[in-house]
Amino acid sequence: MAKYIFITGGVVSSLGKGLTAASIGRLLISRGLSIRMQKLDPYLNVDPGTMSPFQHGEVFVTEDGAETDLDLGHYERFTGQETSRKSNFTAGRIYWEVLKKERRGDYLGGTVQMIPHITDEIKACIRGLDEDDVDVILCEIGGTVGDIEGLTFLEAIRQIGLEDGRENVMYVHLTYVPFIKAAGEVKTKPSQQSVAKLREIGILPDVLICRTEVDLHDDVCKKLSLFCNVPRHAVIVEKDVTHSVYELPVVLSEQGLDDLIMVHLRLARPPAKLDAWRDMLDRLIQPKGRVKIGVVGKYSELQDAYKSIFESIQHGGLAHAFGVDVVKIPAEELEDGTDPDRLLQVDGVLVPGGFGGRGVEGKIEAIRMAREQGIPFLGICLGMQCAVIEYARDVCGLENAQSTEFDKDTAHPVIGLMEEQGPVVDLGGSMRLGASPVHLKSGTNMEKAYGSKVIHERHRHRYEVNPAYHEQLQACGLVFAGTNEAGDRIEAVEVADHPWFVATQFHPEFKSQPLDPHPLFRDFIGAAIQRAGVQS
Ligand code: GLN
Repeated sequence: MAKYIFITGGVVSSLGKGLTAASIGRLLISRGLSIRMQKLDPYLNVDPGTMSPFQHGEVFVTEDGAETDLDLGHYERFTGQETSRKSNFTAGRIYWEVLKKERRGDYLGGTVQMIPHITDEIKACIRGLDEDDVDVILCEIGGTVGDIEGLTFLEAIRQIGLEDGRENVMYVHLTYVPFIKAAGEVKTKPSQQSVAKLREIGILPDVLICRTEVDLHDDVCKKLSLFCNVPRHAVIVEKDVTHSVYELPVVLSEQGLDDLIMVHLRLARPPAKLDAWRDMLDRLIQPKGRVKIGVVGKYSELQDAYKSIFESIQHGGLAHAFGVDVVKIPAEELEDGTDPDRLLQVDGVLVPGGFGGRGVEGKIEAIRMAREQGIPFLGICLGMQCAVIEYARDVCGLENAQSTEFDKDTAHPVIGLMEEQGPVVDLGGSMRLGASPVHLKSGTNMEKAYGSKVIHERHRHRYEVNPAYHEQLQACGLVFAGTNEAGDRIEAVEVADHPWFVATQFHPEFKSQPLDPHPLFRDFIGAAIQRAGVQS
């Protein structure tokens, strides 16, 4: 039977609960344990696939095609382990299941209630990860203690502690210890109140992880220990990291968090092996040089909307022991052509995925510039579709070529709805999702990067290169570097006679990890380093 670690959060959201959970996952793996990670989100959307990046940041896609919370991206990057459909449940998905059972008559005339029916369903989702070889299941509860919608989730994890025995279940609470400038001191009261709220539900935290912007003195930790009923050695300080979130596992381990977990869960394992991780951190903290990558997107003000892309860019740098400065270029600002030289100042251009027409002409403009000026270019999903539109317009002479996503009546629909997609009735979960094989053309940058002929990458799209234009695009020199097995669906394009111009219909950013940088990001940054070298 697997043991459980539940991670809750208090005081405010955005404390980095997902990163903390992922870091604990890394530590347990480094101690030779087999783990699974899960995020439970108490909101009512069935999954985050229908939510705007303004609301919820990036939608992370798993290998098996689930549209999930971006924390699963942290889990995969920190642990190097794949997540799946079973790794993220929302209240919406849980209620949906219970209501379907009710309609089928599964409850045999009973009154269907929050406790036990919803809580039983939540427990089944958590226990669903308990397979033969699993030692520990790490389960993060989204939101903040005190949220009404989170109550059933907290009740469910309380019950698991009762059912499995406290030596098999551990509660880790992440809290915020603010520094009040006017008073010149940190305050423990919000943490005391959030732990009090947990205790009201019947959960006694075993570990308190304190997020803070300043150092916490021993007397503050002692006070937190006393008021929150957590032993002093289980009060862990998680101060803002200096260089990178990847420092976190080391910060937590140095304070004995993994030892504490071993003792509580009665697991005997050798100390954490963090050599490779530390080596990666050294390269990250002391890079040999730096390059600049321009990301031309429509959510330039949001850090979370392109989370996996920003991380993958850093991984690409790590592969060369280089640091990467990301320059966020709002696509719309490129549309009026006010500052055309702006793109010449970066060493590489990346156009990420997206939905809707806002900023598309700016993205196309950026791609034209990258293609004509020989600036290394990586386009992803909508970024590839824009690259095809640009090529069709400027090289094939198909004036006003467009995607039917933005203009249904365009004269040249070089990007069109995939046949199996129309007509779209439900927006949720209905795109082409998850991993499928992609066959690579010999001699392309793609084949060089992957070093193999067939790869598996994750998708999330409704539109594709219109088969009616395949011949014409190829005749103009566009290279179809990746296709499906039959060769009738375009998965990646390249431009020949260019230092490095690759665009993919799939999302390589979902598979890149700091210990295993994705080959396309590695080679993209490699090309950018070369260009920077040529210029300097
Ligand atoms: N909007 C485009 C499509 O649906 C691209 C999607 C994406 O970039 N993820 O095909």
